[in-house]
Amino acid sequence: MNQTAGAVSFVDEMADDFAAIVNKSQRIVLTCHTNADGDALGSTLGFRQVLINMGKEATVITPDLAPSTYSWIKGFKTLRCYDRQAEDCDPILDAADLIVMMDFNDLSRVKSLGEKIGSLSVPRMLIDHHLDPNVSADVMVSRPTASATCQVVFKLILASGLGGFLDLDAVTNFYSGIVTDTGGLSYNSSDPEIYYLVAEMMSRGVDKTYVHDKIFNNKTVKILKLQGYALGRKFRRIDRSPLSYMALSKSELEHYNYNTGDTEGLVNIPLQVRDIICSCLILERPDCVKMSFRSKGDFPVNEYAAQYFGGGGHLNAAGGTFHGPVDDAVSLYCETMPDFYKRWMKKTAK
Ligand code: 5GP
Ligand code: MN
Repeated sequence: MNQTAGAVSFVDEMADDFAAIVNKSQRIVLTCHTNADGDALGSTLGFRQVLINMGKEATVITPDLAPSTYSWIKGFKTLRCYDRQAEDCDPILDAADLIVMMDFNDLSRVKSLGEKIGSLSVPRMLIDHHLDPNVSADVMVSRPTASATCQVVFKLILASGLGGFLDLDAVTNFYSGIVTDTGGLSYNSSDPEIYYLVAEMMSRGVDKTYVHDKIFNNKTVKILKLQGYALGRKFRRIDRSPLSYMALSKSELEHYNYNTGDTEGLVNIPLQVRDIICSCLILERPDCVKMSFRSKGDFPVNEYAAQYFGGGGHLNAAGGTFHGPVDDAVSLYCETMPDFYKRWMKKTAK
């Protein structure tokens, strides 16, 4: 069943499977990756709103605490956090008749919640846009060409005839995920479909300026100073190559009273330099060193993250982790990235 929305008819080959599993489920748990971002929270909380409007019980459980920088996302207060409230979450998970996994492609991305989900024999649905999904699900909607998970779920809802259950909060959340994952439709957004969907969102009343302000103009002076410090004092280029990095130690982060999310967007800034094609942000976190990579053009930072930092992601935005001193993470990056770059240049005959 397809629904004509506005001037465009949205079709999706998974629409019937999606509608069938949603219609037959009543107690639904939705979850997303650790250190949730606008796409993870927008897609889960937006879909939760649609399910509530359908008369279902729906709960979003995040693996770890969602960053408070996203507290403006509709429904944020309803979030439950598995690593802080496992005793409250377990009964909800045990009673669920559907688990929806959104914006991740591997249960290892959801920490201890992944183990819990793995132990349940409950129908599962995956809705995601990361490459190479490594998780089994009864309904798999994996769309690596999509800009955001929010794009995938919004289109599914329209294509499956459930568009009548969308309200402004849900659509605003879905739009927020698209804005987050495309830097305000600046990268990873060349597929024309995204603009038809955004047009549909606007016609449903989304306040574009509000979302833009919440995502891009929502910093504190403290965050600006931390980012200024990183760019002014910690920015490095490997020799004269197009490869750059910034590393921040635990004590530097503490000096700026760091909270998760405070460096959001920072890793993109070095790409504003005309001849830099790869930017890396290295953060010393309490349990590991977090690596974030961004690139321009077709330089595949997801392949690099997978090869050297046990991570992955998208062609132009990827991440991984390093276990050991932050200086060793920097050395590993500086030793391996130039070779990776040379091999890529050779392979693509640039
Ligand atoms: P960020 O740099 O914003 O933390 O992550 C950018 C993208 O890289 C995320 O959307 C996610 O797809 C991917 N990513 C980040 N960290 C990891 C990781 O540790 N493992 C994997 N597989 N992907 C990651
Ligand atoms: Mn995403």
